[in-house]
Amino acid sequence: MQPKKKSAKILRCPTCGMLVRFNDEDFPFCSDRCRKIDLGKWAMGVYKISSPVLDPEVLEDLGGPGAGDDEDSDNYDH
Ligand SMILES: [Zn+2]
Repeated sequence: MQPKKKSAKILRCPTCGMLVRFNDEDFPFCSDRCRKIDLGKWAMGVYKISSPVLDPEVLEDLGGPGAGDDEDSDNYDH
């Protein structure tokens, strides 16, 4: 029987999904950059669970940060 090797805990970076070791300096993030990105999300209220408003339409209407990648709403070429 082989003794169970103590494997380092590995989690995925909440920001980009990369594998991060438990003893990593920026755990649970893969890098300082991802940590700041995640903090930014909190600051923008993306993770605000207390908010009852979660409708995509409302978020779109607000046009706040987070919806910046969706610019094809008025780009229909068809
Ligand atoms: Zn990351």
